[in-house]
Amino acid sequence: MIGANSNIRVTITQGPIARKNGLRVAATTSPTSLNNYLITLNDTTLSGNERVLDLAIARNIMHEMLHAYMFDWADSHGFPTNAGLEAAMQKWFQYNQYFTNADQHAAMTNMVTFMGESLSSYYYSTFNTNNRSFPISDIPINSRYFEDLCWQGLPKTGLSPADMLRIGIVIKVENERFNGPINLAQGQNPINVAPAGKDICQ
Ligand SMILES: [Zn+2]
Repeated sequence: MIGANSNIRVTITQGPIARKNGLRVAATTSPTSLNNYLITLNDTTLSGNERVLDLAIARNIMHEMLHAYMFDWADSHGFPTNAGLEAAMQKWFQYNQYFTNADQHAAMTNMVTFMGESLSSYYYSTFNTNNRSFPISDIPINSRYFEDLCWQGLPKTGLSPADMLRIGIVIKVENERFNGPINLAQGQNPINVAPAGKDICQ
């Protein structure tokens, strides 16, 4: 989605991240110096009883990379090269002057299509090397599924109740499936099973 950019340096690491409002924080992004950014993945998402699968980790990294680009944009107004991403960011900055974490999440709501496409590309390019088994037969694996996953941590104002419910289920499935808590009988409606996904980003 983003492509190469020699103007910024992003370091990805793992470590403990305190819970926020009772919710696990999946990852954080912090500027460390001009054009340098540190993404920390919560180590509880990588191993142990709360581990998530690779698709959710890929989604988290992509989400945090967008934060890094937005921080950098705010610093230098240096757009990334991807035209679709640039258009989405320009649209945001046309109407907004501030760029808090919440602002960045709001801006990302204009990017879920691109995010979903990238996640889909990752999914299919790793299909043979990763364990792809989806117990939720009621929710098809298509472009909408990947877009749904990318709504994690973003404000869902304006989405329909049905969309929000489905998004919550898809996120929960991918965030928690490692432990196998979601086992649906064939044909069982997942709408009746899962509350919203729990991870957030700060
Ligand atoms: Zn975020």
